[in-house]
Amino acid sequence: MLHPIPMVDLQAQYRRLKGDIDAAVLNTMDAGIYIQGNTVKQFESQLALTLNVKHVISCANGTDALQIAFMALDLPKGSEVIIPTYTYAALAEVLHLLGLVPVFVDVIEDGFLMDVSQIVAKITSKTKAIAPVHLFGECVNMSEILHIAKQNALFVIEDTAQAIGSIFCAEGCSGFAGTLGDIGTTSFFPSKNLGCFGDGGAIFTNNDQLAKKMRMIANHGQSKKYIHDIIGINSRLDTLQAAILLVKLNHLKSFTSTRQKVAQRYTDALGKLNGVFVPQKSEYSTHVYHQFSILLKDNEMRDALKLKLAENGVSSMVYYLLPLHKQLAYKTNDSLPLSEDICNRVLSLPICPELTQENQDRIINLIIEFTQNYKNN
Ligand SMILES: *Cc1c(COP(=O)(O)O)cnc(C)c1O
Repeated sequence: MLHPIPMVDLQAQYRRLKGDIDAAVLNTMDAGIYIQGNTVKQFESQLALTLNVKHVISCANGTDALQIAFMALDLPKGSEVIIPTYTYAALAEVLHLLGLVPVFVDVIEDGFLMDVSQIVAKITSKTKAIAPVHLFGECVNMSEILHIAKQNALFVIEDTAQAIGSIFCAEGCSGFAGTLGDIGTTSFFPSKNLGCFGDGGAIFTNNDQLAKKMRMIANHGQSKKYIHDIIGINSRLDTLQAAILLVKLNHLKSFTSTRQKVAQRYTDALGKLNGVFVPQKSEYSTHVYHQFSILLKDNEMRDALKLKLAENGVSSMVYYLLPLHKQLAYKTNDSLPLSEDICNRVLSLPICPELTQENQDRIINLIIEFTQNYKNN
């Protein structure tokens, strides 16, 4: 069998940047400061500059980033937060932990993002926030979300774990993902577009007061060392991770443009195949392609393609197997049919800046061959 092709080739990326990363790690170890310190501060200000946002507060992971954001808002227990049902579980998990209630919204037709037009109907007297997720690397329609939020006095928390560097651009409303609402959160999980060598996360805001509070919450609620003003948690980005992220941040732009080229080649090659549907990118957002996801005609065809790829050493993933409202932990009686449907038909293909053209051709040819031979076509 030919060599396997992973979803993301982290080893290849490390080898490419090894000189700089090794030097940064060795310097940090040599300096003897392993928690906080200048390197963390430098990374925060570098990222704030990159994303054109006033405050970046680093923390231990993307889930903590969400938790710290919602702790800072201090919403009354039982408050409702409107979120997509088609996303990673972290958001629903954090809301439940804090005694808040996720209210789920379906996806748009023929796409993966939350259907903004369904939000207003879900607003009740208990609704306090909307938390859009810029899933797979593309921004949700933020101008509509901000409009609804303003009219109904709701907070907006953007989950930007998959969309760092993505740009929303509509008339009168533009900026980087995670910097348009009250708070944005992200993750530096190794496979994310900007990944470290372990867990890491960050929070963005232009609001001075929220920034101050979130920094305190991330550090045991301390206003000064050993002075605890509010209840916090221990959530810090390791100095070593910040050193690695500082190196990688210099490459984020080129990582993104390479991902976009890979995505374009997939789109060109797969867009017209029988039984394969490639959702279109919106006009109001760039797409940083954390995932390149396609929809197959039905569940059977999706599973058959996944198997065919696996038999040929090609990884693929189902993001996500179930919408949140169908997970045991978060179950509701909602009927959100589009999300339920795409979970059965979605397949995400390998994508990363290190995916070679040769490997991508192998994947594309396998899919073409598969669709030509697939029984129902
Ligand atoms: C990865 C991810 C998270 C959680 O990030 P961690 O760093 O793994 O805690 C949250 N939301 C979304 C959409 C994600 O993809």
